[in-house]
Amino acid sequence: MLVFEAKLEGTNEQYGKLDEGIRTARFVRNSCIRYWMDNRDIGRYELSAYCAVLAREFEWANKLNSMARQASAERAWSAISRFYDNCKKKVPGLKGCPRYKKEQTHGSVEYKTSGWKLSEDRRRITFSDGFDAGTFKLWGTRDLHFYQLKQFKRVRVVRRADGYYVQFCVDQERLEKREPTLKTVGIHVGLNHFLTDSNGETVANPRHLRKSEKSLKRLQRRLSKTKKGSKNRAKFRNKLARKHLKVSRQRKDFVVKTARCVVMSNDLVAYEDLKVRNMVRNRHLAKSISDAAWTQFRTWVEYFGKVFGVVTVAVPPDYTSQNCSNCGKVVKKSLSTRTHTCHHCGHTQDRDANAARNILERGLRTVGHTGTSTSVDETDQYLSEETPSSKSTRRNRKPKK
Ligand SMILES: [Zn+2]
Repeated sequence: MLVFEAKLEGTNEQYGKLDEGIRTARFVRNSCIRYWMDNRDIGRYELSAYCAVLAREFEWANKLNSMARQASAERAWSAISRFYDNCKKKVPGLKGCPRYKKEQTHGSVEYKTSGWKLSEDRRRITFSDGFDAGTFKLWGTRDLHFYQLKQFKRVRVVRRADGYYVQFCVDQERLEKREPTLKTVGIHVGLNHFLTDSNGETVANPRHLRKSEKSLKRLQRRLSKTKKGSKNRAKFRNKLARKHLKVSRQRKDFVVKTARCVVMSNDLVAYEDLKVRNMVRNRHLAKSISDAAWTQFRTWVEYFGKVFGVVTVAVPPDYTSQNCSNCGKVVKKSLSTRTHTCHHCGHTQDRDANAARNILERGLRTVGHTGTSTSVDETDQYLSEETPSSKSTRRNRKPKK
């Protein structure tokens, strides 16, 4: 699936109608969660049938396009099934029991193949369900002419602090050609540097949130001084939300570019399978860790890996920074020790580069054995060499000269 985004340009009245659609989608999702809480044994089909009940009962729910109603129920179901999965797998900590969604700055409604229509020149979109939001001009850089109309599987309307956007989900797999570089790399992510690779190269940590912290705090103070429910408060809330939006966009931009660069210049990328959620519990580092966006980075590395045909391996993170990458022995060190000095073999290296080399080594050991015969054991190798071949094969052998 490819996703293209464009900003919607319309009148305030039209935006108000989009708001209604978004609110209704949220209502359907929350009602489905409620229904599930009252009847725990139901599945996705019952939820999907419940949509029709809602539409009959509530006039505004009936206004929303029927497929969009279904999509909201599907979203509720995916939240529920994720919760079930976490329980089944016995994930430590919270299992993510589905909760009701509140009214927020951001929100969305998802249409499938009906309820919307692109104009002939594909520069305008018309929403034609019961809310009748009308025609919007599309602001975006992507050329939608490139794809067949039937490839547009889903259309989402997304509300953000700075306006309304539409996302087109196009049914096409993205596969791109890339010349092999004959290089492999291990990556260690950290707070001192955003990443350190097994060649000792580093990428600085941009710390977008830290940079904007001062102005964010100022806005936050202004907001807290305004009266509840006043216009002024709404204004400052929006300003603050826009600032946060900017930070998250900067972060995403950085992460995507870095991930793409790493994938493009290597044939195998190994990285740690970090449990960031557990690390964020450390409240001294929580903000810095969240700001570093490792999870987002990893997701993009894996995505680009698929697009460009590059092997990506997540390895277990234990002892990657404690082991010596030269002799493999454990060299205990605290977080503040920045240089790895091995007292077994005398190997000296930057702490993070040492870890990155261990990660690469571990990555190479875990993959690359797909489809090999089941017993790859050294003893078997010697055995097959020494065993005299059977009579039938001996007869077929060419005579020695
Ligand atoms: Zn060593």
